[in-house]
Amino acid sequence: MKISLEGQVALVTGGSSGIGAGSAKALAQVGAAVAINYHSNAEPAQQLAQEIIDAGGRAIAVGADVGDEQAVERMFAETIDAFGRLDILVANSGLQRDAPSADLSLEDWNTVIQTNLTGQFLCARAAIRQFLKQGIDPERSRAAGKIIHMSSVHEVIPWAGHVNYAASKGGVSLLMKTLAQEMAEKRIRINSIAPGAIATAINEEVTGNEEGRRELLKLIPYQRVGEVEDIGNAVVWLASDLSDYVVGTTLFVDGGMCLYPGFKDNG
Ligand code: NAD
Repeated sequence: MKISLEGQVALVTGGSSGIGAGSAKALAQVGAAVAINYHSNAEPAQQLAQEIIDAGGRAIAVGADVGDEQAVERMFAETIDAFGRLDILVANSGLQRDAPSADLSLEDWNTVIQTNLTGQFLCARAAIRQFLKQGIDPERSRAAGKIIHMSSVHEVIPWAGHVNYAASKGGVSLLMKTLAQEMAEKRIRINSIAPGAIATAINEEVTGNEEGRRELLKLIPYQRVGEVEDIGNAVVWLASDLSDYVVGTTLFVDGGMCLYPGFKDNG
């Protein structure tokens, strides 16, 4: 069985680093044209686009703050101008602003909700509008379009000191399910991926040193820290027709982190 997304166009938000970059590369490897969104620093996104082009693929870099409605509209227009259509959205942009709840500022609460939740809504809405306009093209896919929300194990695991982040990902869970329920009859397939601990810039303080990794492994039954390729592979599968009957689901890619590892020796 071989997955091909040849002839399909994907937009990956926050695509210039970490999981987004891994997802953009994975999608390009199976033939999708990729629009790589960046927030403020164009260079890494342009470099990645060039890397994909050099390998024989199609890619562009597109700037936008996903929490800014006008900027999101422009980003979708640029993507569709460049490639003529859109088939796949990976709503991946996200950030953390951590503090004990008693000290958390409203500004840091709002920043995280604006990017991680409102940003996912604005991008999903723009993608849905485009998918409805295009309809189904059976030559390309059985679905009119696919949306993959990048959630987190913290859509179900409470996380002290990260209340804004956990609330945003809990919100993504019902955002995704509600959109999926609403759009399924139009054959727009909407799902989430919930990564566990994947070594990227977002958790460098922990994954970037031996001690941090050792502590982290206590939370991971499978005993390895995840890599961006683990998520890229899941993105490709959820974007392809191999998952055509998968609708409104969160795929946990977490090495077993949600299995309550603290209870293992406590039976
Ligand atoms: P990362 O920091 O490398 O990636 C986050 C990306 O989002 C960056 O490219 C950043 O520029 C972009 N971004 C931030 N604010 C933005 C905005 N306003 N507009 C547009 N883009 C913006 O970290 P990552 O680990 O690759 O995170 C990607 C996603 O995966 C996030 O949603 C994160 O919550 C989720 N996630 C990561 C892990 C992990 O262990 N790394 C675990 C669970 C979930």
